[in-house]
Amino acid sequence: MKRTLVWFRRDLRIHDHMPLYRAAQRGAVIPVFVLDRALLHHPETAPARVQFMLENLAALDQDLRSRGGRLILRYGDPVAALPELVRQTQAEGIYAHVDFERIYGRVRDAKLNQAIAEEGMKIRWFEPPGTTPELISYPRYRSLWFKQMNDPQVPPPQRVMVPDEVTSAPLPTPSKLGLFPDGKPMPPPGIEAARRLLAEFLEQKTERYYWLLSYPGAEATSGISPHVKFGVISIRECYQTARAFEATNYRTKRSQEQFISRLRWGSGFAQRFRYLPQLELRSLYQVFDDDGWEFDQGLYEAWQQGQTGFPIVDAAARCLNETGGWMALNFRSRALYASFLTNLLGMDWRFGALHFMRHLIDGDCPIDHYQWAMQAGVTHCVNKTWTRIYNPEQCAVDRCDPEGTFIKRWVPEVAHLVPCQLGQPPRLKGYPPPIVNYREARQRRVAQLARQRQPFLAKPNLVPYLAEMPRSVIPFGSDRYDSEVGWAQQDCPDLFPLALDLKGLDETQAKALRSWFVASQQGQSWRPKRKRSPRKRPESPGQLSLLG
Ligand SMILES: Cc1cc2nc3c(=O)[nH]c(=O)nc-3n(C[C@H](O)[C@H](O)[C@H](O)COP(=O)(O)OP(=O)(O)OC[C@H]3O[C@@H](n4cnc5c(N)ncnc54)[C@H](O)[C@@H]3O)c2cc1C
Repeated sequence: MKRTLVWFRRDLRIHDHMPLYRAAQRGAVIPVFVLDRALLHHPETAPARVQFMLENLAALDQDLRSRGGRLILRYGDPVAALPELVRQTQAEGIYAHVDFERIYGRVRDAKLNQAIAEEGMKIRWFEPPGTTPELISYPRYRSLWFKQMNDPQVPPPQRVMVPDEVTSAPLPTPSKLGLFPDGKPMPPPGIEAARRLLAEFLEQKTERYYWLLSYPGAEATSGISPHVKFGVISIRECYQTARAFEATNYRTKRSQEQFISRLRWGSGFAQRFRYLPQLELRSLYQVFDDDGWEFDQGLYEAWQQGQTGFPIVDAAARCLNETGGWMALNFRSRALYASFLTNLLGMDWRFGALHFMRHLIDGDCPIDHYQWAMQAGVTHCVNKTWTRIYNPEQCAVDRCDPEGTFIKRWVPEVAHLVPCQLGQPPRLKGYPPPIVNYREARQRRVAQLARQRQPFLAKPNLVPYLAEMPRSVIPFGSDRYDSEVGWAQQDCPDLFPLALDLKGLDETQAKALRSWFVASQQGQSWRPKRKRSPRKRPESPGQLSLLG
């Protein structure tokens, strides 16, 4: 009987999983997950996220067992471990989804391709839904995403036959891996839990989701991000479940559309990283890094620990540290907290992205790094629309947390104050005064961004201004945290999938690439103009601006 090795990575599920389905159709399967030291000891590793991953590996094992199979675990470097397993099991080859979350994975997969070819073995890569290897314009990608999301899901295999003689290493605890969880509560693992979260969200939260996205205390989001991050549920299944939901009024319909857009944004960030893996390490435009950033260790620590003297910022900081962000730290609070570090304290967004990744249970490199860079204003250059300097004073309290629920939960030092004092509290024993003057800092940043964006404001071709892939791919933060970065010691390693060669782009390709990064060009939107609905919008706080 034919044997195929299926390598699970960020797709810890048996549903809507083409490599597993195809392998099971061919014959026996060796479903393997490799506990890879370089990822477990990357500077951006969060022990809580690893714990969640291990719980999902146990759930995947159960799902495979329900079909007669089991999960095979291995430790070590996949470049050595996988060919060895192919040899041991006499499998015909490896099936896996393409992955491009980070540079490390692409270096590893390029080396694996080489090792497999040298041994005369085979590997077949499958494109996950929501991505394309081609350089296409953003509007085309948008259509492609919807098309792929509407394709039928791949059914789970009826039976998974794993050869009896193949043994597995035991599932470790995080501490066995040298990682010490910091007490963050875990989301429930496994696909059934993900489906429950999604069903509860659609049934109970769509009345308020879109309308309360700005309110950190509202807990109006789905909470599905950690499952999406590890592919416990496919984005296509999330999309189709959300689409099938019968929205009965304007409010629920708007929320349904918004939720689907957010799923698409997540895929779009990954696709940007596919084109330009340098975004893991660099700002989109070279000038922002050339110009340099400020750094102050004391202010950085105050920001990390929630001691800035701005209660809404401190609430976000402490919420991240305690919960890992799951359910409790929504988009608006992440954005406000991020903007404070980069725009008001003037620090490099990479320090912020690093701290987030070390705590977020849903930490996803493309979403996290690109969102950080966006909030810092270094992904846009055309006009001022993309200057995200949030006001962290009373304006934020009034618009995001008018009752002070979120702030009082996380910053007990100010719990006795009335909401109108939470923006700029009076001097309090045990709570610091503001570490920065908001107005002065804002003015400084606005002027700096205007100066940095000036050189290419009206340039039709932005490619010459984009950051190139750096020679060194050593992860940011490896000088601060003990990590395994031996893989990055080589200059300009090969990547799989390949990065875009910026110097080799022709005019059409440059234009397509530009459409991913510039929302408006000389005031012209690239989006097809949609007719505004004549229906009267219901009374609602809607989406609020904090940029004043
Ligand atoms: C600075 C910063 C860092 C962030 N880092 C991450 C991260 O590491 N991982 C992560 O999943 N999200 C990140 N986000 C995006 C967003 O805040 C979270 O996806 C969201 O809070 C997750 O909660 P949820 O699943 O309940 O959200 P829901 O609103 O229910 O969203 C459903 C899904 O859509 C996707 N999504 C939602 N919002 C966004 C967004 N703005 N951009 C891209 N995809 C989105 C996620 O996959 C999410 O699970 C970040 C946002 C900011 C401002």
